[in-house]
Amino acid sequence: MNASSNAIAAQPNPSNKVRDFVARKPRLLINGEWVDSRSGKTIAVFDPATGREIAQVADAGKEEVDRAVAAARAAFESGPWADMTPAAREAILWKLSDLIERDAAELAELESLNNGKTRFMASIIDVPGARDWFRYMAGWATKIEGTTMQTSIGGIPGAKFHTYVAREAVGVVAQIVPWNFPLAMAAWKLAPALAAGCTCILKPAEQTPLSALRLGELIVEAGFPPGVVNILTGLGETTGAALVAHPGVDKIAFTGSTEVGKIINKSATDTMKRVSLELGGKSPMIVLPDADVGAAVGGAAMAIFFNSGQVCTAGSRLYIHSKIFDKVVEGLCGAASSIRLGPGLEQATEMGPLVSKEQQERVLSYIESGKKEGATVVAGGEAVSHPGYFVKPTVLVNCNPRMRVVREEIFGPVVAAQRYDDLDEVVKAANDSPFGLSASIWTNNLSAAHRLIPRIKAGTVWVNCHNLVDPNMPFGGFKSSGVGREHGRAVLDLYTELKSVCMLV
Ligand code: NAP
Ligand code: MG
Repeated sequence: MNASSNAIAAQPNPSNKVRDFVARKPRLLINGEWVDSRSGKTIAVFDPATGREIAQVADAGKEEVDRAVAAARAAFESGPWADMTPAAREAILWKLSDLIERDAAELAELESLNNGKTRFMASIIDVPGARDWFRYMAGWATKIEGTTMQTSIGGIPGAKFHTYVAREAVGVVAQIVPWNFPLAMAAWKLAPALAAGCTCILKPAEQTPLSALRLGELIVEAGFPPGVVNILTGLGETTGAALVAHPGVDKIAFTGSTEVGKIINKSATDTMKRVSLELGGKSPMIVLPDADVGAAVGGAAMAIFFNSGQVCTAGSRLYIHSKIFDKVVEGLCGAASSIRLGPGLEQATEMGPLVSKEQQERVLSYIESGKKEGATVVAGGEAVSHPGYFVKPTVLVNCNPRMRVVREEIFGPVVAAQRYDDLDEVVKAANDSPFGLSASIWTNNLSAAHRLIPRIKAGTVWVNCHNLVDPNMPFGGFKSSGVGREHGRAVLDLYTELKSVCMLV
């Protein structure tokens, strides 16, 4: 069976552990306790591979937002967390990472069941990634430092000053994350904030709240004091918006669409919150004429089909030099049509469904718009007739820079391939986008790569690879792809305030 046949294997039954977890009562983590939402409202959660409901989670209302913010404020201002040494913060973050490692198999299964990605990918990317982000950020807890400086303040004859800058935790942070890497995104947000000494309220995406709730159990088990991490499942327009507007929240950290990022940025202005935004992308992959065709084909397939294309850095615009255009496209079509689609828990599956019916419809409507605007489908281009939300890996050619499939983020397994002849022309085309999250260059010519890198407007440029991240590598976007950089030393700027101290001595 492969993508060209329409047969999708049955989703195997989850393990007893996962089955028991998804059947648990809908609860929210507030002040170290699992509590009901006062309204009793719940949100249904689905298995994207079958369309079947698998769980119900609580829909946090304004009252729960108020309680979570109050708990996070109290934990930030005084008590065990506020008094904790950086070394003790480091130790508790490590403890959490060890618990993630202990329960790695269960977490990978849960992530696969809820998001649709394969259990295999969750077990080699998402879960170890979450573990390693906590480990890396744990180390920063003990390395936050300030500076002393000389000043030239005049007007007070004979005066001497002792002047320094301290770096302090920003306070109560609300963190709103998307559905494409639910556990890893939670780790990207929580780990640096906690290392810096902040307290957090995490709101997972409505489609994929389960791994965040399981992480919440591990957070309690690790021994984080009450109120340090609160987890509110709920809807973006209500729970998320209430967090963004809340005067008790000092900072918003958001990953998601550019559209919602703009709404959040505007709303947060009213209370002058600190805001960091990791938003959408339309990342170009530029294949130079000397590139190794096999490497470019494998790279392009990975760049766009990994995680069913639901990756903010997905290589969705493929620019190939005319000299090798046909060969690369032919290879990519071969790769696309041999990818085995199926449910995430089935071992033989290579690519899972999209996360939701809505996302499936959105991706299919983009493919239709591409066809209407003159693009040609040379691989995939359709759903699979099945209750799950599958879309075949799709390659479009005869694309031009004005098409929506070239300009807008599709967030699915759809690549728009274009040919070019001249380097200046491809640089202009690559930068002709509102986004600037990432790009990749494929070449064996070191000098050509180095000359091209500074000309590309993107937060990350990969050479002969794509979609690779590391906790030590700053990540974020130019232009409409966001504000701020996560990971590495850079992320500490997002979770700390600088305090200048000037003392007349
Ligand atoms: P989304 O609709 O922007 O949702 C992201 C999160 O924001 C969800 O938790 C959502 O809650 C919440 N939200 C929605 N409206 C809100 C509002 N008015 N106020 C506060 N919160 C609100 O994005 P998505 O559909 O989940 O993810 C796909 C998009 O995210 C793509 O455009 C992709 O590029 C981008 N993305 C970017 C990165 C990155 O690192 N740059 C990573 C992943 C995804 P609900 O789930 O309840 O709606
Ligand atoms: Mg939504």
